Amino acid sequence: MEITLVKTTKPKPKPDPEKLGFGRVFTDHMFIWDYSEGKGWHNPRIVPYGPLEMDPACAVLHYGQAVFEGMKAYKAPDGRILLFRPEQNMARLNRSNARLSIPQFDEELALQAIKQLVALERDWIPTAPGTALYIRPFIIATDNILGVRPSSSYKFIVILSPVGAYYEEGLNPVSIYVEPYYVRAVRGGTGFAKAAGNYAGSLLAQKNAQAKGYSQVLWLDGIERRYVEEVGAMNVFFNIGGELITPDLGDSILPGVTRDSILQLLRSWGVPTVERRLSVDEVFEAHAQGRLVEAFGCGTAAVVSPIGRLGYREQVIEISGGKIGELTQRLYDTLTGIQTGKLPDPFGWVVEIDI
Ligand SMILES: *Cc1c(COP(=O)(O)O)cnc(C)c1O
Repeated sequence: MEITLVKTTKPKPKPDPEKLGFGRVFTDHMFIWDYSEGKGWHNPRIVPYGPLEMDPACAVLHYGQAVFEGMKAYKAPDGRILLFRPEQNMARLNRSNARLSIPQFDEELALQAIKQLVALERDWIPTAPGTALYIRPFIIATDNILGVRPSSSYKFIVILSPVGAYYEEGLNPVSIYVEPYYVRAVRGGTGFAKAAGNYAGSLLAQKNAQAKGYSQVLWLDGIERRYVEEVGAMNVFFNIGGELITPDLGDSILPGVTRDSILQLLRSWGVPTVERRLSVDEVFEAHAQGRLVEAFGCGTAAVVSPIGRLGYREQVIEISGGKIGELTQRLYDTLTGIQTGKLPDPFGWVVEIDI
């Protein structure tokens, strides 16, 4: 399938690389791909970035049949443009589609479109440490019918945003509130999918935690509210007595590409790792025994985010003396080094865009 291109006649000025923030400026072009029943996915095209025209009855606006992805492109010191394990994001997007009753798409063509779009916008890729070109593919239901049923038409869209560090404070340890009541996801639900509604449902707990002086929440399982699941929209690791523990995957946990890459890196370094259920009580007990060495969240946006303080009911504990842990720092340096082409890539994770 040919991807058609309509170039903008009004290129925008590039933003000041010092003041990027996260996801606030967008590049000159976007990718759009239509789906309709009978025709399948058709008319893949790169067009000038701009508003979408929508009927007020558009299905996604009412019942949230929408999924998304998050990836990054980097410019290596030698000028090569690099993606990090992008085939994993395409496969996960199709798994999210399956859960949300959205039709499957051709992962090769979608990746080809992303490569063409990023190549076209190569001058938008920032190069300062901690910056990247964030890639946001998403799919929305577009039937203009109020019935609650899977849409028969969709749009697959990709937009690009030059981004700075996810947290304005940089790689500083953050304060995390263990959410005792609200849950992000449940067994049998949509937590393993990057479904738009999961994030809408998480905002109230996040807002409450921020009002208490925390940056984010640590989510517990939806059944007993005892077992650790994720931190904000990131996976989570705890270093207890030198063993790196992360919750095992299930319906309610998003299988992060960063999580998987960290597990592979740790194993290659000979660091003991385990994927298992971990209760919040066990985390606090480990702290009381002096065995809680470090904790961090991980995901594409922040890469790793050290946890410096953890509040749960009446208790507040400090982790790693409120500083970044040794393995956390090593993981950040290694992952960003591989992603930006500054370190060798022994796992074959990096995909070069040669268009
Ligand atoms: C995207 C996301 C992650 C991290 O996934 P990566 O592939 O590492 O970016 C973790 N948890 C949630 C809820 C997410 O949405």
